[in-house]
Amino acid sequence: PKLVAEHKGNGKPTFSFEYFVPKTAQGVQNLYDRMDRMNQLGPQFIDITWNAGGRLSNLTCEMVNVAQSVYGIETCMHLTCTGMPKSKVDNALKEAYKAGCTNILALRGDPPRENEKWEADPHGFHYAKDLVKYIKANYGNHFDIHVAGYPEGCDDGTDPELLLEHLKEKVDAGASSIITQMFYDVDIFLDWVNKCRDIGITVPIIPGIMPIHTYAAFMRRATWTKCHIPEKWLHLLEPVKNDDVAVRDIGRDLMVELCQKIIDAGILHLHFYTMNLATATRMCLEGLGIIPSLEQRTKALPFRPSLGLNR
Ligand code: FAD
Repeated sequence: PKLVAEHKGNGKPTFSFEYFVPKTAQGVQNLYDRMDRMNQLGPQFIDITWNAGGRLSNLTCEMVNVAQSVYGIETCMHLTCTGMPKSKVDNALKEAYKAGCTNILALRGDPPRENEKWEADPHGFHYAKDLVKYIKANYGNHFDIHVAGYPEGCDDGTDPELLLEHLKEKVDAGASSIITQMFYDVDIFLDWVNKCRDIGITVPIIPGIMPIHTYAAFMRRATWTKCHIPEKWLHLLEPVKNDDVAVRDIGRDLMVELCQKIIDAGILHLHFYTMNLATATRMCLEGLGIIPSLEQRTKALPFRPSLGLNR
C-alpha cells in the first residue's frame, strides 16, 4: 500500500510521525504509552528509525511489530546499510514481513559513531540505492520502498546537482516516495521540489517537519543538519531563548506558517520528527487545524491495508 500520494486540489492534509528507538527497556515502554496517546491525533502512518550500526536493530523490529499488530497502525521500518551484512538485512526484512509491515525507508545510514567516516560493510551494501534494488529483487512489490532526500545537502554530499542525480537513481531503482531531511526555510524546500520535478522525479515528496521544542534543541538540530535558519526566525526566537513556553508558542506559529505554505503549494502530507515528544507536534497540528475528528478517524479505520490519499 502507498503511504501517501501527492495531489493538488482540495484534499485534506494528512500527517505522520517518526519515532526513534529508545536505548532502555523503560524508554521503550514509555514510548509505547506515548505512541498510543499520539495515535489519537490520527497520523496516517508512523515510522521507526534504525540505529546506525544495527545495535538496537532487534528493538526496531520489535517496535514495528507492536505498532503494526497491537496498535494496528501502518508502520514504516527504517533500514540502513551501516554495519549490516546481507544476512542481517535478510533477517530484518523477514521480521518486517512477518509483522505485516509493508513499508521500508531504505537508507545508507549514519556512521556508527558521530564524526566517523562511513564505511561499507564488506558483506553488505554501499548506497541506499543498492538496498532498494536488493529489496525489490527479493520481495517484488511486497514492500513499498521509500528513500531520503536532502533539500540542503547531506554530510558527505555537498554538491546539490550530484545529490539530485543520486536521488533520481534511488527513485529509478524502485522507490515510491521521498521523505526529506528537516528544514526551516520553506522557500529552499519548495525550490528543491521544483528541481526534483525538473530532472524527472515524479514520486511524492514528503517534507520532514521538525517542531521546535526548546531553543537549544532548535539551534543544535539546525547546526547538525546544516540547515538555513531564516533571519526572521532568529529575530523572534533569540530574545526569548530562556523562556521555554514562549519559544514553543512562537515556534508553533513559525512552524504553522511553514507547513501552511507547503500545503498551499499542493503538498498535502507532513511528516513530523516527533523526537518521541508529543507537545510541540500536537501544538503545530492544532495550529494548522488538521487533526481529524473522532468521527473521521473512526471512519478511516482500519488503517490497513491501504493508506493512499488518492481516495
Ligand atoms: P545515499 O542515498 O546512499 O547517499 C549517501 C551518499 O552517497 C550521498 O553523498 C550520495 O550523494 C552518495 N552517492 C549515492 N549514490 C552514489 C553513487 N552512485 N556514486 C557516488 N556517490 C553516491 N540514519 C540512520 O542511521 N538511521 C535512520 O533511521 C535514519 N533515518 C533517516 C530518515 C530520513 C527521512 C533522513 C532524511 C535521514 C535518515 N538517516 C537515518 C540519515 C541517513 O542515513 C544519512 O543522512 C546518510 O548519511 C545518507 O543516507 P542516504 O540513504 O541518503 O544515502
